[in-house]
Amino acid sequence: MNAADYGGGVSSLVPAGSRRRFPLRRHRLLPGLLVVLTALAGCIPSPRAPRRGWTPPIETPERFRQCLAALRAEGAQVEALADRRFDNGCSATSAVKLVAIGIPVTNLGAVKCGAALPFVRWVRQDVPTMAQRWLGSDVVRIESFGSFACRPVNNQAGNRLSEHGRANAVDIAAFRLRDGRRISVRDGWNGDDQQVRGFLRALHKAACGRFSVVLGPDANALHHDHFHFDMGSGPYCR
Ligand SMILES: [Zn+2]
Repeated sequence: MNAADYGGGVSSLVPAGSRRRFPLRRHRLLPGLLVVLTALAGCIPSPRAPRRGWTPPIETPERFRQCLAALRAEGAQVEALADRRFDNGCSATSAVKLVAIGIPVTNLGAVKCGAALPFVRWVRQDVPTMAQRWLGSDVVRIESFGSFACRPVNNQAGNRLSEHGRANAVDIAAFRLRDGRRISVRDGWNGDDQQVRGFLRALHKAACGRFSVVLGPDANALHHDHFHFDMGSGPYCR
């Protein structure tokens, strides 16, 4: 098992977070209040500090086996990854590599099984349904910004660990259609094409029924170009 299995082809300790998609100048253009809210938010919104009484699900080999079986029952080909824990608090435990889940997803590394299961259902059930309904085409590739990334929320020192640091999150940026179109969250969410807007909103909404936390462009400026899904403490859907 090499580092690439965890970080989606990028060194596992410097993946998605270090390839920031958020040019700093955007922030300087925003009103002061929004800048403050954004700084607090990161990939997980500040209102979503772990709920009192919420604890992460206990991971046992038995539960991992059940989760793997559930993934395979969904038709997913997955590879179980050995648990990894890093000195800085990051970890990838009860995690899988998604080998084939119906639609190729680029740039995915390790995903905790508990997040992989709703993700596979979203990819296999929601994405094809909404693509046909709104765009009359099929999605042939999904572009992700990654899953495992050892970094604090907002990539800012001192912030708590992002769910990406636990391989418990996935970022989705764009969809390639069979008819050649490329639908990106960045261009499509507030774009002119009503069908594209409907497609993206339908997928965002469907994800809210599957994940603890779903963030998109309406959540904060950091998510102007991708959907963030995680299975940390929730629910939060924005
Ligand atoms: Zn994210």
